[in-house]
Amino acid sequence: MTVAHDIVDLHPEVSSFLARKEYSSFVNGEYLAAQTNELISVHDPYSEEPIATIAEAGEPVVDIAAQAAVRAIKEWKKVLPNQKEKALFDYATLIEAHAEELAQLLVLEHGKLFSDAKKEVSAAVNCFRYYAGWSTKIEGSTLDVSLSGGDHFAYTKREPVGVVAAIAPWNVPIMMYAWKIAPALACGCAVIFKPSEFTPLTALRLAELSTSISHFPKGLINVVTGSGIKTGQAMIHHPSVAKVTFTGSSDTGRIIGQNAAKRLKSFTLELGGKNPVLVLDDADYTKVPGGICKGIFYNQGQVCVSGSRLFLPKAKFDNTLADMAGIASSMKLGSGFGPDTKLGPVVSEDHFKKVMQYIEEGKNDNIELVTGGHKGEGKGYFVEPTIFANTENKKVSVETEEIFGPVITAMPYDDFDDLLRKANDTIYGLSASIWTSNLHKAHRLIDQIKAGIIYVNSPVRSDPNLPLGGFKQSGIGKELGRSAIDAYTEAKSVCLHYS
Ligand code: NAD
Repeated sequence: MTVAHDIVDLHPEVSSFLARKEYSSFVNGEYLAAQTNELISVHDPYSEEPIATIAEAGEPVVDIAAQAAVRAIKEWKKVLPNQKEKALFDYATLIEAHAEELAQLLVLEHGKLFSDAKKEVSAAVNCFRYYAGWSTKIEGSTLDVSLSGGDHFAYTKREPVGVVAAIAPWNVPIMMYAWKIAPALACGCAVIFKPSEFTPLTALRLAELSTSISHFPKGLINVVTGSGIKTGQAMIHHPSVAKVTFTGSSDTGRIIGQNAAKRLKSFTLELGGKNPVLVLDDADYTKVPGGICKGIFYNQGQVCVSGSRLFLPKAKFDNTLADMAGIASSMKLGSGFGPDTKLGPVVSEDHFKKVMQYIEEGKNDNIELVTGGHKGEGKGYFVEPTIFANTENKKVSVETEEIFGPVITAMPYDDFDDLLRKANDTIYGLSASIWTSNLHKAHRLIDQIKAGIIYVNSPVRSDPNLPLGGFKQSGIGKELGRSAIDAYTEAKSVCLHYS
């Protein structure tokens, strides 16, 4: 196993972490001996070389993790809210102190740019800090009731939902760890977290770090490694798991929702998107091309909220695409550690093949390829930043299906109603971005676009206080903000008859 980014001096803690080479699940505060011989290779998408193997956890390990989580919840309940707050805050500070190391590990397992990896660690730190504050602010309400027979005092209290099974994708592995674990812990839950089999290393390292936080009982954070079909399913089916939180593709979400519903477990699904970018003729066209390119090519387009369907007024179509093509074609592909790199590889060979397949379909569907459309040169799962122009509004897969790569399809529109109809013509409803200098038009679009999160004059981003979740086939439920507190607690209604 090799680490081929010879342009970087690896942090000593990354070198010593990677020297282990074989990883199993981190449960109850330690690495468990693997219970099966099934191993999954983890590859560096830049070198295409294996850098580690993980053991398939499967049912036996999930069962041990669930038992540890049940015990941890009892211990965590004894920790006062302000002690929980401090513990989560301390964890954030510890992650921040290890930012350099975690960001390097993230580049190696995922391929993203080191600068973006550092931003991701920072976003995770902010998320843990934000939810640290919520630990002391969980509240119910008092309620007037109309019951006969004397006086009554009625109130609700919010209680932790219990053991949470969290199943994550590979696109932002450290952020997903924070988005799921921070609110769950603030609410008094314990977590069994399954990172994607493509990017499991950062979650394991984060779990290792959590053991030094005083007040975190053993088993509060458990990271199980393995595939979705074996380990993920074992998590959903385990009787001690009360809540399933899943982020990933809509196809997998459908399966997970069905299985959780069969067992009447509550679940949250954060799924895919094919997000519209709506540009009006009064937008600031000095900012539009750069903003749109950032919105689709960031993280190689592997962002659920990336804007992949672009709608431009006819009069601005050709010039805007020419400007965007100029930006896209000048992006340097390379190692995430390269100082001039603007686009890293996509995460895996399978995903590379999927993205390239969509690009070939776009070419075969006879829509115009404006720029890109090829594999990057040499080794590594590189895809050129690609722009298609679908001027005849054909129903083609690059325009209707989530590619989750650096590929955007542009379409011209005639007028406001045509724009609205085209933008909403999708099974998805995750995000949208609107570019205009007219507030009145912006609000009309905000009211009528079916999407869970909308940004105006900016690519869509995330903030811990801003709930994120999809409409239509992009999901059920929300993450972040107060919404996550509601998701990891349930209200208990109490009524005292006192006369
Ligand atoms: P995926 O659905 O293939 O896998 C996600 C996770 O589910 C992985 O951990 C995988 O091992 C597990 N899994 C797969 N099959 C399973 C099964 N049958 N049972 C249980 N678990 C199973 O998704 P991916 O390719 O890892 O991630 C990309 C997808 O994630 C995209 O569709 C993207 O839009 C979506 N995403 C959504 C959001 C959001 O907030 N809505 C955020 C990030 C990514």
